Amino acid sequence: MEIVASVKDLQNLLSEKRNSGEEIGFVPTMGALHEGHTSLIDTSVRERKTTVVSIFVNPLQFSAEEDLDDYPLSSEKDKEICANHKVDLLFCPTQKEIYPEGSPELEEIGEIGKILEGKSRPSHFQGVATVVARLFEIVGDAHVYFGEKDFQQVMVVNDLVKRRRFPVEIVACPTIRQIDGLALSSRNVYLTEDQRADAPVLYRALNMGAELIADGEKSSENLKKLISDIVRNESKGDLDYVDVVDSETFAPVNLLSDSGKKIRILIACKFGSARLIDNIGVVIP
Ligand code: AMP
Repeated sequence: MEIVASVKDLQNLLSEKRNSGEEIGFVPTMGALHEGHTSLIDTSVRERKTTVVSIFVNPLQFSAEEDLDDYPLSSEKDKEICANHKVDLLFCPTQKEIYPEGSPELEEIGEIGKILEGKSRPSHFQGVATVVARLFEIVGDAHVYFGEKDFQQVMVVNDLVKRRRFPVEIVACPTIRQIDGLALSSRNVYLTEDQRADAPVLYRALNMGAELIADGEKSSENLKKLISDIVRNESKGDLDYVDVVDSETFAPVNLLSDSGKKIRILIACKFGSARLIDNIGVVIP
């Protein structure tokens, strides 16, 4: 595995690979790697000849009140994990390398990025879109692997790719969970023992919601109420939102009556200082 910090070095190495006909798989991350990240890496390694992983904690996607200063870093361990998972190129750029102009102009985002996470974390998706656009410009032609754990992020990035016509193919990969259902997240390290015991309520409640739909529930309001009640009654979590959207358009869904339609139920909840998100896909029967 080669570790590079400069855009130029990365691009030189990528041109060599492309010249020998190798397809590029790219996995953008903010480090503190766990099995959620390595599942994306393993998929890329399996599917593409060359896999590039980037580790860059992007300040633009954190607001002033958020956890940028405390965001977990584990660079030596991350390097070891990447090498063990057969990454070819590890790109660890500095701020200056990604944003040579200091504060870049923020990327536009469509309506998809303005609801749910976009509403609770204003400018978050503009920050994500800005760094992702920068990374796509640097890496060029590639298959890019993202996790469905951040489902809305995948939708925002797909929209960005379409609007900016980046020569990339987005591959969305399933959420990796702990045995009790808690989605792996770099932010889980903030949970106290009690909060850690509470947090699996999110996936439990999402699954109860999926069962309610399978049993014929047609009202999104009833569904959201059931899920909210479970989270409030079975944990000390501070619920931010529960919502239901069309999996393809991300438009809010009020009636669960369209047989065969693919929907996503999304949830965000704070457990102490850790704000966790999760989601589940359901097909309306
Ligand atoms: P992050 O380092 O948090 O920006 O995440 C980098 C990538 O890993 C994103 O595409 C995330 O959606 C993905 N990811 C994070 N957690 C998980 C998980 N539990 N399962 C699958 N993918 C994940």
